[in-house]
Amino acid sequence: MSSASPASTQHHKVIILGSGPAGLTAAIYAARASLSPLLIHGPLPGGQLTTTTEVENFPGFEHGIMGPDLMQTMEKQAARFGTQFRQEFIASADLSKRPFTLTSSSTTYSCDVLIIATGATAKLLGLPTEKELMGFGVSTCATCDGAFFRNKVISVVGGGDSACEEANFLTRFGSKVYLIHRRGELRASKIMQDRVRNNPKIEMLLDREVLEIAGTKQSGVTGLTLLNKETKAQEKLAVDALFVAIGHTPNSTLFKGALEMDENGYLVVEPNSTKTRIAGVFACGDVQDHVFRQAITAAGTGCMAAIEAERWIEGQDGH
Ligand code: NAP
Repeated sequence: MSSASPASTQHHKVIILGSGPAGLTAAIYAARASLSPLLIHGPLPGGQLTTTTEVENFPGFEHGIMGPDLMQTMEKQAARFGTQFRQEFIASADLSKRPFTLTSSSTTYSCDVLIIATGATAKLLGLPTEKELMGFGVSTCATCDGAFFRNKVISVVGGGDSACEEANFLTRFGSKVYLIHRRGELRASKIMQDRVRNNPKIEMLLDREVLEIAGTKQSGVTGLTLLNKETKAQEKLAVDALFVAIGHTPNSTLFKGALEMDENGYLVVEPNSTKTRIAGVFACGDVQDHVFRQAITAAGTGCMAAIEAERWIEGQDGH
């Protein structure tokens, strides 16, 4: 807990933390169940889908829908049933007693039920210049930054569905796109691999590790040094951008020590449930799912969390 005491306190029956498909679906269900939820979100409302382009696999949208549009629609739907929204950076959480409390610099929020839907964040390679050049040629979001590299040479690192999707999307802008992967075969699904292989603008550089990102804030990214793992030789590659698409880390640090986590920090929930080991605390979406990580599965678990929360409250009220 932070030592500075915030200026105001307020109580809500249900607080939902996070505004991706899991949080917003939980909000729609909880609000329709007259639980008047408060949804607290960070500076990027809508979560990871707001940094994606077209979503082709969310049921109900025959011709696909843009990620940000999907999230705005879900938000309006949650608001329509009475969800309140608040942007806050929650610095600490106390789940050791009820009501649970969440504290920001200005406010302590208390609640009877907490639904955690904090999602996951893009992983970085951990190279010295990577953070320095973030926004200056290094990016984790093709949708946000792709258009800055029209007719430029773009590189993407990673071998999963995200990397393939980003590489394909970036061919809309770049004159050429390199897909760099540390192994000899991609991890991505067959359909995504086929799209990459059939795209004449993409060149795959397999068995390559990125050792260095060259450039400055003035010049932007100018090139990469790669280790060719087959020949053990170092190779220079002139590029104007590097998009890092190597997976995600769950946003669960707030609950370290309080809730059970697996070795990668994903919250552990009961099988076929969103219940954590603390009664009244539920977790849904990517913060507890390292297997499927889809918008639709996140939404599904958000629905489960709201229904389980409603039943738990009914049990507490002695109904
Ligand atoms: P992912 O499947 O975990 O793939 C991460 C990729 O990055 C792997 O190829 C991995 O290499 C590589 N990697 C990890 N750490 C690295 C490092 N330090 N240096 C270099 N390379 C590194 O992550 P994802 O692509 O973000 O996908 C996550 C989930 O979302 C998957 O279930 C995926 O199917 C789903 N997804 C679906 C869609 C879609 O269906 N449209 C789109 C995006 C994502 P290795 O292969 O060697 O481990």
